[in-house]
Amino acid sequence: MRVSARFSGIGTTIFTQMSALAAKTGAVNLGQGFPDTDGPPGMLAAAAAAIEGGRNQYPPLDGLPELKTAVAAERVRRFGMAYDVDSEIVVTAGATEAITAALLGLCDPGDEVILFEPYYDSYAASVAMAGARHRSVPLRPIDGRFTFDPDDLRRAVGPRTRVLVLNSPHNPTGKVFDRAELDLIAAVCREHDLIAVTDEVYEYLTFDVAHVPLASLPGMRERTITISSAGKTFSCTGWKIGWALAPADLVVAVRKAKQFMTFAAGTPLQAAVAQALTDELDWVDGLNTRLREARDQLRTGLEKAGVSTYACDGTYFLQADVASFGHTDGLELCNDLAVRGGVVAIPTQVFYDDPASGSGLIRFAFCKRPEVLDTAVRRLSAYLGSA
Ligand SMILES: *Cc1c(COP(=O)(O)O)cnc(C)c1O
Repeated sequence: MRVSARFSGIGTTIFTQMSALAAKTGAVNLGQGFPDTDGPPGMLAAAAAAIEGGRNQYPPLDGLPELKTAVAAERVRRFGMAYDVDSEIVVTAGATEAITAALLGLCDPGDEVILFEPYYDSYAASVAMAGARHRSVPLRPIDGRFTFDPDDLRRAVGPRTRVLVLNSPHNPTGKVFDRAELDLIAAVCREHDLIAVTDEVYEYLTFDVAHVPLASLPGMRERTITISSAGKTFSCTGWKIGWALAPADLVVAVRKAKQFMTFAAGTPLQAAVAQALTDELDWVDGLNTRLREARDQLRTGLEKAGVSTYACDGTYFLQADVASFGHTDGLELCNDLAVRGGVVAIPTQVFYDDPASGSGLIRFAFCKRPEVLDTAVRRLSAYLGSA
């Protein structure tokens, strides 16, 4: 058996490995980013009713009209941005499919795509599937907050650069790109005629800072594919209902690829997400508050135990410093932590081209119940005390 050359640089995901280790050792799993409580009851009931009500056949390629209408209405309410329901919105099998379809639909072999590194693992795989190449712009901590050097961004752009992928709020760092950073990124996109593909799956999960879509900046709506999904907003990561918003010609690119990937998915779940986007945003406010408390609980616990952490303004994730555990390599630390410490974290190095660049960081997911985080903090303190 030979795997195609396109996938030669793509490894097996660490999440499966670490979750298996958690199951085997009984460790608390703060590895994979999924919540351990359910989404809004109204949304769950809407899904059950849709299934019971016989809405179980193929939806349209573009998605159920009621979901596209709900997405469009939400954009107008929140950001004053109008997208045409018929030509500028497409529903996808999660944000993941939207990103892959966008890259497949836009890139020719040899084209280049800019990624901020560390990056969500599906991006590099999607770029590779498109036969394109990625160039990485490093995010590095300055005074405990991740940021990038504008010169690194400018240097990454070349004659073949076609797309820039922006993920804000950012997994795995917990960074929310601020207005000055977004202005700079937008300027580079306009100057070099790049298309921006934005992954905004954590758009509702920012803490004390506003979420600003890149598409809302001057000159960006016409060159941006804005991607989001229900998974993180409504704590239903297993549903895989996402969407992309863009000018009609860019939506065509996404749709062409998507058509022969999944065609379409999740009719009753699409109906339920339409209900949630319309009626459950108060529930999302509550989720936001609980997550901010969870972040504080984990961060305070880690800091008390002597672990340095980095600024986290959004997402499910907190970065911690490997050196403060008395280790030098995040992968070694995570293995030891799972076996001897009873807690699973993810070595941040898996989100880098060169693992050495991220070996000093590990990622904890705090999207868990307070009692679970409490157990994790007690175990981490004990681990550090005995180290
Ligand atoms: C969870 C996550 C996704 C996946 O979204 P789906 O809707 O489940 O496909 C995409 N991007 C980032 C940054 C994520 O953390």
